[in-house]
Amino acid sequence: MSTSALQVQGLAKHFGGVRALDGVDFEVPAGQCVALIGPNGAGKSTCFDCLAGQQVPTAGEVLWQSQSLLGKPPAERQRLGVARTFQVAQTFEALTVLQNIQLVLRGAAPLAWWDRMDRRQPERAMHLAAQAGLQLLVHHTVADLPYGAKKRLELAMALAGLPQTVADQGAALLLLDEPAAGLALAERADMMTLVRQVASQGVTVLYTEHNMDAVFGVADRVLVLMQGRLVADGAPEAVAQDPHVRERYLGMDFDLNANVKTHAKGLQDARG
Ligand code: ADP
Ligand code: MG
Repeated sequence: MSTSALQVQGLAKHFGGVRALDGVDFEVPAGQCVALIGPNGAGKSTCFDCLAGQQVPTAGEVLWQSQSLLGKPPAERQRLGVARTFQVAQTFEALTVLQNIQLVLRGAAPLAWWDRMDRRQPERAMHLAAQAGLQLLVHHTVADLPYGAKKRLELAMALAGLPQTVADQGAALLLLDEPAAGLALAERADMMTLVRQVASQGVTVLYTEHNMDAVFGVADRVLVLMQGRLVADGAPEAVAQDPHVRERYLGMDFDLNANVKTHAKGLQDARG
C-alpha cells in the first residue's frame, strides 16, 4: 500500500493527433511542494485539467487519498480537497478582495437576492485574506490591486472553495498553474514564500513555473514534462544535474545556486 496522497498512473490525454499527455506516472506524499516544469506545450496545464476535472483523460488513473477522481466533476473533486488556480487570473474585478473570497466560500448558503454578501462568514474570509498577505487590501476593489496581490487573491479563493474541515486539516491538494507568471522578482519571491507556507500547513502543492528562481530553492521536488512525457522526477539538486534536462530545457550553463541566490535577493527586495 502506498501512502502517497496523490497517485497519477499512466495519465494520457490526446487532442486528435496531439499527445498532450502521453503516459505520465508520479506520486506525491502529503505536504510536499512540487514544481512541474517544462517548455510551453509540454502538457502542464492539461495535466492540471485532468487532476482537477476540466478535462477527461484518454487513459490512466488519478487517485487522491486512495480514491479515484476520474468521472467526478470539478465541484465534487473540490469537496474532496482538490483546489486549483488557472493560468489566466479568474477574479471579479468590480468586487473587493473580501467579496471575491466570500463569493466562493464553501459552506456559505447560496446567494439569494435578499442576502447581503458582506454577511457571509466574514471572519473566515478575513482569515483567508490575511493568510494570503492581503489583510491591508481587503476592502480594495480588485481592479485597483497590483498584479501580485491579484495572484495572491486567486490562491486565497482556491482555498476558500474547499470544505472548512479539509482546509483546517490541511488535507488538500492545491494545483497552481503559473502562480508567479507576470510577476517581477520581488513579488515572485513573495508569492513563492506564500506557496511554501501553505505547503507547511500540510497542503500538498503542485505548481507550474517558467522562472527557475521560483523553482530551485523553493520546491521540495521537481518534475520535468516534455512533449507529454515525464523526463525527470527528483530532488532539485538531482534534476539540475540531469544531462538530458540540461541539454533540452535548462541549458548547459544552468546554475542552481545562482537561482537560489536570485530568489533570496527577491525576498530581500520584497522585505526591504
Ligand atoms: P503547457 O501548459 O505545458 O504549456 P498545455 O497543456 O497547455 O501545455 O498544452 C499541451 C498540448 O496540448 C499543446 O500542444 C496544446 O496545443 C494542446 N492542447 C491543450 N489544450 C488543448 C485543447 N483544449 N484542444 C486541443 N489541443 C489542446
Ligand atoms: Mg500551461
